[in-house]
Amino acid sequence: MMSVIEFFRNLPEKQCSKCGDVIQEKADCYGNVCDECDHPAH
Ligand SMILES: [Zn+2]
Repeated sequence: MMSVIEFFRNLPEKQCSKCGDVIQEKADCYGNVCDECDHPAH
């Protein structure tokens, strides 16, 4: 049985659907855009 920590370590890095940058670990509720693109001021 794979440990939860190992499962998350093996996850591929998410990429921003707008700029293609790697999305840092965070809650999934923002969709597939990075902090920059998700920021309302941008
Ligand atoms: Zn982006």
